[in-house]
Order: sequence, then structure tokens, then C-alpha cells
Amino acid sequence: MDVVQPIRGEKGATPIGLDADSHGTEHRAIVDTHRHPIGPKLAAKMAERGFYDPKQELPQTNTQDLIGYREFYDLEYAMPKAREEGVTLCLASNGGEVEWFARDLLKVSTGDALKILNDEYLEIRDRYPGEFALMANAHALEENCRPIVEEMLRKGGAKAIAVASSYGDGSDRAFLDSPKAEWLWEFAAANDIVVHIHPPMLSVGHEVLMQYRLNEAVGRPFDSTVNGARMIASGLFDRHPKLQVLIVHMGGELASVLGRLEFNWRLNYKGIRNPPAGKPYKNDRPPSDYFKTNILVDCMGFNPIGLRAAVEMCGVDRVVFGSDYGPIPYGIKEHVQIVEDVLPSPAERELVFWKTSNRVFRLGLVDTDLVTPAFHQSR
Ligand SMILES: [Zn+2]
Repeated sequence: MDVVQPIRGEKGATPIGLDADSHGTEHRAIVDTHRHPIGPKLAAKMAERGFYDPKQELPQTNTQDLIGYREFYDLEYAMPKAREEGVTLCLASNGGEVEWFARDLLKVSTGDALKILNDEYLEIRDRYPGEFALMANAHALEENCRPIVEEMLRKGGAKAIAVASSYGDGSDRAFLDSPKAEWLWEFAAANDIVVHIHPPMLSVGHEVLMQYRLNEAVGRPFDSTVNGARMIASGLFDRHPKLQVLIVHMGGELASVLGRLEFNWRLNYKGIRNPPAGKPYKNDRPPSDYFKTNILVDCMGFNPIGLRAAVEMCGVDRVVFGSDYGPIPYGIKEHVQIVEDVLPSPAERELVFWKTSNRVFRLGLVDTDLVTPAFHQSR
């Protein structure tokens, strides 16, 4: 198979500034791994397709009940706000929405949609030098998008591959334990590239969730949960022991159902004379094990209980900072505060804020911890 060369910071290492302001507050490095920027071209396309009316005030909703804020449609407006709230580098992804972009918004093939998204990303990266690293968006179940993904990794310098946790709808909805996704796991594991997994716009069960914004609050994390359970149970991580995936939104609801997965795996179909084909668990290790070896999560969830559970589930070195800022028009500061409240240790906070991202995405950021004390003494 084609192997992508390891991707390192092409322009050399980027120093991270750790400074102190007049109040003595530490300016820390924060890598936001969960951002969905769109540029002016895609915003115009969304207006053209009637997703929002640029002449009217934002926020707006539409016939699909997609609520759009200025922070999403207007990157020029959102960037200073994200900077002010402390983000020093964002990782751009739209893996959850590739199918929606292709089918509903752009009305083109998956491949063409990916190319349009990639072009927009490269423009965004150039417009905000040093503030964006990119992910290569992909359709996990369409292997024919692989050359576009490879190009985005090799030439575009992408740091991860971004996909949706499910595709399709109703009884045809497929998750990432589908044999069609096997190419992706082989490719990602062989090239040591993290796969970022985000729920789709309309989650599993959305038909009964289109009230009180439950598709967002409950449905999307549920999609991540079903997918995470299926990935583990299918033995995917046993087949690809080196594979690293990042499940957004604190891993959906996986932390709260982990015990249930454990006892179901333990009982499995043992004692059943003729277990139904395809239904028994295939994984070798207890489900909770894979969170320590293959699954990372981000901190997006606005809740210290969730963050504590995520840290306990994965270990503090497998939880990364992610805000979802843009589609969610606020919250970076709150996320930072929750990380600080849950993790009193500065060393552990740094892991979440940037060190783990730096390691797993190979961002090439330089640890300036060693020079910081000297800097402070000189003031
Ligand atoms: Zn998101």
C-alpha cells in the first residue's frame, strides 16, 4: 500500500509563548482540536441554498432546524474572540458533515465535496498564518476518497483524518464497524495518523429528537456512543492494535455505559447453544481497556462531571482540549475553567491544553516550560 511519509511541522517547529500579563495571569498555549471553520465561499453557498439569509440578523434557523450563529458563518468575526479567550492553535475538521456537504449543500460527489472543503481549508490556513492546522476530511465508507485524503496529508500537511461516526439514515445507517471502513483503519494505523470521529448533523434517532435541540444534546453523543461500542465490539482495535481514534464530545455517553458494555462483553452469548451469526462481541480485551490504548476523547461537554469521567476512563494523557466554537457561539473560557477546576495539577492541565495534542497530531510545538521560570525572574 502507499505509505504517507510522517508529517512533521513543514515550516519548522512553532514556539509556544508562555508569558504573563500585568495581572500575573499565565498566558498558556491552548490547542483547540475541535473547530469547524468555514470560509466565505462555503458561507455564500449556504446562503445560496437557503440555509440562512445573509440579509437578516443572526442567529437564524431554517427548515432543517439547523441553527446558525455569526460565530459560524463569519470567521473574521469569530477569530479575534477565540484568540481573546486563549486559543493559540485550532485544528480544523468537518468529518461529521462530509455526507451533508456533498448531498445537501453542494449537491456534488463526495470526492468533489472533499476537494471544495480542502481548498477552503487551505485558504483559511493561509489567511490566519500559524493559527490553523488542518485535518483531512474523509468519507470513512468510501475508499475511493483515499487519494484525496493522501494528498491533503502529504501536500496539505493535514495532521489527522476526520470522519463521521455514522452514515446514511434509518435502518440503512452504517457505523464504522462496517467492512467498508477497513481501508481507513489499515491506512491510519500504518501511517500513525489519528482518526477524528464526529457525529453527523442528523444523528441516529433524530426523527424523534427534533425538539428542545435534543438532536444536538442527546442524539449526537448517542451516535458517538453507538459507534464507539460497535468499534470495540467488532474487534477492530484487536485487528489494528496501533490505531488511535479521537471520539469527540467526551466520548459521547460512553463513560456512563462502560460498565454495561463490560458485563455484556463478559456474558456475551456464553452458554447459548447456537449464537446468532454476527451478534456476539469479537473483542479480546474488556471494553474499558481500549480507552487506555486506542481511544482519545476531547473535553467538549460543558460539565466537570463529564470531564472527570473522561479523565478516569481514558487517563489524563488521552483527553485533549476541544471547544466546538463557531457552531457553538460561546464557551472557550468555560471549557478552560472546567479543565482547571477538575485538574489542579499544572502538569496535567498542560497535557489537556496542548501537550497531548502536540504529541498525537505531531504539531511540532516547542515546550518552553524550561525557559519560563527564567523569563519570570527577569521581570
Ligand atoms: Zn463539533
